[in-house]
Amino acid sequence: MKTRTYSRRKIEDEFTHLPVSRGWKYQLRRHKEGRCIKCGQPQAAAYLCLRHLIANREAIRRKAGATRRNRSFSYALEQRRKYRGPSASVGSRKNLTVERRSASRLP
Ligand SMILES: [Zn+2]
Repeated sequence: MKTRTYSRRKIEDEFTHLPVSRGWKYQLRRHKEGRCIKCGQPQAAAYLCLRHLIANREAIRRKAGATRRNRSFSYALEQRRKYRGPSASVGSRKNLTVERRSASRLP
């Protein structure tokens, strides 16, 4: 019988033996690296990049039927980074360089 070979080596870290799903481990590893748990971009808040932070906030607002916009952390970040809206794709390399350039201009 032919023994099975794997193209990728198993990741051995503190999360390997946790009794949680592989998806959860993926999120824990992204969080440890300081990256968004959904897309891998640099984190803006605890677990998410700015794009997903805003997407999450808007989804919750829609679900709750919110009408007011109270002062919150994500609005302040949105203003500071001159975010161009959820339609701008953050995953591409072109946008990554734009993000870096704008970050260097900040005081
Ligand atoms: Zn993200």
